[in-house]
Amino acid sequence: MSEIINAVDLTSKLIRCESITPNSAGAIELLISYLEPLGFKCKKINFGEGIEKVENLYARFGTKGPNICFAGHVDVVPTGDIKKWSMDPFGGEIKQGKIWGRGAADMKSGIAAFLSSVSNFLSKEKDFEKIGSISFLITSDEEGKAINGTKKVVEWLEEKEEKITACIVGEPTNVSEMGDTIKVGRRGSFTGFLKVKGVQGHVGYPHLADNPINSLIKMLEPFVKIYLDEGTENFQPSSVMITSVDVNNNASNVIPGEVSATFNIRFNNLHTINSLKAMLKNQFNKITQNYEFNYYCNAEPFLTNDEFLKSTIEKAIKSVVKINPKQSTSGGTSDARFISKICPVVEFGLVGKTMHKIDENVDVDDITKLVSIYSFFLSNYFGVSSFD
Ligand SMILES: [Zn+2]
Repeated sequence: MSEIINAVDLTSKLIRCESITPNSAGAIELLISYLEPLGFKCKKINFGEGIEKVENLYARFGTKGPNICFAGHVDVVPTGDIKKWSMDPFGGEIKQGKIWGRGAADMKSGIAAFLSSVSNFLSKEKDFEKIGSISFLITSDEEGKAINGTKKVVEWLEEKEEKITACIVGEPTNVSEMGDTIKVGRRGSFTGFLKVKGVQGHVGYPHLADNPINSLIKMLEPFVKIYLDEGTENFQPSSVMITSVDVNNNASNVIPGEVSATFNIRFNNLHTINSLKAMLKNQFNKITQNYEFNYYCNAEPFLTNDEFLKSTIEKAIKSVVKINPKQSTSGGTSDARFISKICPVVEFGLVGKTMHKIDENVDVDDITKLVSIYSFFLSNYFGVSSFD
């Protein structure tokens, strides 16, 4: 029989893998070495070539549904100036009741906590295979381009007709203490590139030129107000931020021939990519036809409506830390945006205060609490009594 996995010890080991995005640096192999003895069927799924090559893992215990999946990433952001760290960023040291290192909060301890709770759960539920399945979707391409990671694994799962009933993403969702926040959706992100053309000329002869800056200002004017709506019950207002305006004109007596601007829209579910495109084009066309517009949208908004999934994680949090978590959709994007296309997703992990910072760390106690919360979640979700 396999032993209960120690989450703190495993977090240290994972931190010692220098898995700067998109490298897994042995972290995925390490997870497999823990999962296989528990009875998980592990499938490494690699995408991309050369330096773009990304290792991903899909591991499943059991063949029956419901299949609860835990999703996370082993890759981390770079350390920044290593001299500013007071601990080795890849040492995984435990000091002052905390575990230190890059990925401690975001999100190696989350993965270790879920794996620990699963080992505990399976040791108590000998007949679990008759009840359902547990799976892991782990990538090493979340913090970077996120092209060869979860996005492609989700497509692979669809191709293989592999069904996931619901998913927990173990990102550090809590703001200041364990249990304060779960994420039940995320806003979308839309980046626009606008280039306006005019006619270059002498500032003293404006009738012979056409200044594209004048058009650009009018085209973007409505978006200086920043907010596109007032938000909804579940989402903050959608916001537009102009991030760059470029003319490349050093001469004060020349009307430039061209100007470009970049902007980003963080949008809630009152909008879609098409409605945003239509809104922008409608505004731009009122001013001039003489422009080029391109965009990319790497995240559409989503909101989880699976009440059972949300209430089960909430109950587990309440049982362990006696806190009623807030349901949030704030912050940047996460891989939950890809997974939400195939099943309901909630995000819950550690406290995110130090993520991506110098001296990233988490409380060892918080890891222990997270193990208990995930254990309660599993036994409540599958309707068994091991942690009641
Ligand atoms: Zn993360």
